[in-house]
Amino acid sequence: QSGTKPPPPPSPLRNSKFFQSNMRILITGGAGFIGSHLVDRLMENEKNEVIVVDNYFTGSKDNLRKWIGHPRFELIRHDVTEPLLIEVDQIYHLACPASPIFYKHNPVKTIKTNVMGTLNMLGLAKRVGARILLTSTSEVYGDPLVHPQPETYWGNVNPIGVRSCYDEGKRVAETLMFDYHRQHGIEIRVARIFNTYGPRMNIDDGRVVSNFIAQALRDEPLTVQAPGTQTRSFCFVSDMVDGLIRLMEGEHTGPINIGNPGEFTMLELAETVKELINPDVKIISVENTPDDPRQRKPDITSAKELLGWEPKVKLREGLPLMEEDFRLRLGVPKK
Ligand code: NAD
Ligand code: UDP
Ligand code: UDP
Repeated sequence: QSGTKPPPPPSPLRNSKFFQSNMRILITGGAGFIGSHLVDRLMENEKNEVIVVDNYFTGSKDNLRKWIGHPRFELIRHDVTEPLLIEVDQIYHLACPASPIFYKHNPVKTIKTNVMGTLNMLGLAKRVGARILLTSTSEVYGDPLVHPQPETYWGNVNPIGVRSCYDEGKRVAETLMFDYHRQHGIEIRVARIFNTYGPRMNIDDGRVVSNFIAQALRDEPLTVQAPGTQTRSFCFVSDMVDGLIRLMEGEHTGPINIGNPGEFTMLELAETVKELINPDVKIISVENTPDDPRQRKPDITSAKELLGWEPKVKLREGLPLMEEDFRLRLGVPKK
């Protein structure tokens, strides 16, 4: 009869997606460093249901310990190079090893993860009509000839070098995102992430900030790879997560640089870690790896103007927060 309200659905259906305004969010690579902090932030909103898909190559269940068993949280062991059939509203696609020693360990797998993994997540986004965000990287700029790097710079990348599985892999992933957007109308967001640091980084993953802090706490020399004048710009993970969520929720496809423009040479970074954490430690020079970019600093004009985002945590504020986490995990109390 017209004018009468339909009866409420039977109780099992009331919990289904069709009767809720909840947002179901997939995070691939959610057991990793940035992914697990993103999970923490998204779980704070009671309207979000979070599903993590991860193969635990560089991530760990430990990073998600506090959410396991939570009714709005689900963790699935799955490799994104295989198809995935689930129903979601948003996809944060992070799955990919990020540290050079891990992505170079099995380069063919790294490129499969970037290409087939991104293709599968785009196929999923297309089937269910989800918005998808890719965490691309400043490595798409290669060894940049333009400084700082704006999103309009096309990069200077070696297509056959030992880093290519990662940087060319991410470049193809970006291409796939834009082709699915143009050809199939998928809602996409592309973030170009610059070096990020913070609690929960793998202690022995070989990246410079985690190396220096672990070395300082173990009274081992800080290994500056030659020449030491190469630069990076380091973003604290809470700022990064904030930027990624703003990009996902905003109206702009990107690509958008998300990073902290504070630029440091590796020697300056070593001096800072020494001063803040262990003034007695030595700084030594060691051999570098091939194709190491000489300078890197984001131009974040777009993020400021389009997302209203800029980083808040300075390097000298973020390093002690990471030190605290590394002390706990390494069992080295503060003297
Ligand atoms: P991470 O290694 O801690 O996390 C990556 C996660 O992806 C891990 O949990 C890993 O187990 C998972 N994974 C890898 N291959 C997978 C596969 N085939 N299937 C399913 N899961 C898989 O790295 P992170 O620092 O958290 O980086 C997250 C994302 O951000 C990556 O896409 C990375 O390329 C990008 N990024 C990070 C940085 C940085 O400085 N941390 C810089 C630029 C871009
Ligand atoms: N795919 C997936 N989950 C889905 C839908 C698709 O993993 O829910 C995979 C699918 O197996 C394919 C890829 O995504 O390998 C691309 O899918 P699309 O439909 O765009 O292309 P096609 O299947 O026509 O090649
Ligand atoms: N690096 C260093 N000592 C280390 C590890 C790295 O001096 O123990 C240097 C490395 O040569 C590079 C920079 O730090 O110039 C950043 O390296 P990382 O692997 O952290 O990130 P990416 O090269 O991907 O920016």
